[in-house]
Amino acid sequence: MESKTSILVIYTGGTIGMIKDPETGALHPINMDLLYQSIPVLKNFNYKIDSYSFEPLIDSSNMNPDFWVKLAGVIEKNYESYDGFVVLHGTDTMSFTASVLSFMLENLNKPVILTGSQIPLGVVRTDGRDNIINSIEIAAAKIEDTPIVPEVCICFENKLFRGNRTNKFNAENFEAFVSGNYPTLAKVGVHIKYKNHLILKPNFKKLKVHYTLDQNLAILKLFPGISENVVKSIFAIQGLKAVVMETYGSGNAPTDKWFIEALENAIKNDIIILNVTQCKSGSVEIGKYETSVDLGRIGVVGGYDITTESAIAKLMFLLGRNLSKDEIKKYLQISLRGELTN
Ligand code: ASP
Repeated sequence: MESKTSILVIYTGGTIGMIKDPETGALHPINMDLLYQSIPVLKNFNYKIDSYSFEPLIDSSNMNPDFWVKLAGVIEKNYESYDGFVVLHGTDTMSFTASVLSFMLENLNKPVILTGSQIPLGVVRTDGRDNIINSIEIAAAKIEDTPIVPEVCICFENKLFRGNRTNKFNAENFEAFVSGNYPTLAKVGVHIKYKNHLILKPNFKKLKVHYTLDQNLAILKLFPGISENVVKSIFAIQGLKAVVMETYGSGNAPTDKWFIEALENAIKNDIIILNVTQCKSGSVEIGKYETSVDLGRIGVVGGYDITTESAIAKLMFLLGRNLSKDEIKKYLQISLRGELTN
């Protein structure tokens, strides 16, 4: 007899399972063990659906590397027992979690689909119901016993994205996520239409989970008028190993002498500076304009079209491994999990 496809739904918190505090009116997460009671129609799927709930549940604004380690641990512990995983997560930091999981889970050959909602499940007009149902169906989808989507994705408002390509761009609309530099992997309509040529292929190797994440990094977002004091203070942070520098357009920055010298000194002090663009779409091209030539000369690393979320995740992952600075710089410029195009 063929065994039933099995899915583990992992609940971390987020709006999807929140209720309003009657006194303050603020939303906070509640336990949602009873998935079938919330969405009875799930019984009509011919899948075995189990759930795992974190304790305590969190608003994803409280997400942190310790939680990521626990989440990756739940996936590793259950990896052989399930065909796919659905992670219910708040939308605020979902792109960070999807990005970091993509790096932590090396040789992932099963779907890990993150989803959530803008309106809690208990509210009549919730978007959570469809998001969960679509995510479960996608996590279960196979062709001849091979999962169709063996990667970490975000499924939201009828679209499937590569997780490490996304940003949350809207705090109000049901359409909350974009993937400015990579097309959607599937669209959900009457049928779920997968774009197989865009989806990572399974390598059938054994899952290897990387649990060490290094948090010694910072984001430096440029703006006209940023002061020397602010830039120098960031590079002077004790123990700092890397900075994600959000530059303008295709990777451009001021050419002021103090600015270039501050960066050059930081690089000499072994701090990695990764250049990502503030734009939601497009790529860093160091040297395209005069305003980025110096960055290339002093050794700023070009991040191509990686998102800030993914850059943070990738650096935490790479810095957590026993790699030399040169190796880290090399890996930053190549795609490890489909996170950049170069
Ligand atoms: N603050 C919530 C969270 O990220 C928002 C959401 O779930 O949409 O947990």
